[in-house]
Amino acid sequence: MRRSDAGRLEVIAGPMFSGKSEELLRRVRRAKLAGLDVEVVNHAMDARYGEGSVSSHAGLSISSIPVSEASDLAGLFEGRELDILAIDEAQFFGPGLIPAVDSLLARGITVLVAGLCVTYDARPFEPIPSLMAVAEEVVKLTAVCTVCGADAAFHQRVHDPGVGDSRVPVAAHVGGVETYEARCRRHVEFPTTA
Ligand code: ADP
Ligand code: MG
Repeated sequence: MRRSDAGRLEVIAGPMFSGKSEELLRRVRRAKLAGLDVEVVNHAMDARYGEGSVSSHAGLSISSIPVSEASDLAGLFEGRELDILAIDEAQFFGPGLIPAVDSLLARGITVLVAGLCVTYDARPFEPIPSLMAVAEEVVKLTAVCTVCGADAAFHQRVHDPGVGDSRVPVAAHVGGVETYEARCRRHVEFPTTA
């Protein structure tokens, strides 16, 4: 395949349970079938399914490299003609992800970013919204509202007294079906203060 000068940024965004990891894994499998050189990374903080793999809630899984800092991303693949780097749970990398992605794109690497674009209290969750703004392609997914079955653009922390507490550290966004529920606009609790 002919390598273009600059890479392409594809962002897969949505709330929890919206199928972001499934879509990322589908694209990775497809690229591997095409013979492209693909690597998958996840954040070292996301150890829900054990380090070294990206998994979907439905049980699909692929091996990945756990990375702690956005600034480590570029160095990992130095000197390698990587075609695609897929990053799952990308929100955990914080604002440093933006320059890291820029430098990968500048090297001609296509970057697939999957991550939460909303927090569990229904606010935009940087850096994903900023990456969506400058991407060649954005796939915005919805889950199914656990209350009514409507399209859910949000997820909410449940079974926890700290609901809506923005002081809860970012690590608290790691979780699964036992802590969070997908909610539609009607059934999500928006924060009371701006
Ligand atoms: P994400 O990475 O966006 O959190 P996953 O790709 O891991 O999502 O999982 C998506 C899968 O989660 C769906 O295919 C479905 O099997 C399962 N799932 C569980 N709860 C829900 C829900 N409320 N809405 C949609 N899918 C759900
Ligand atoms: Mg996921």
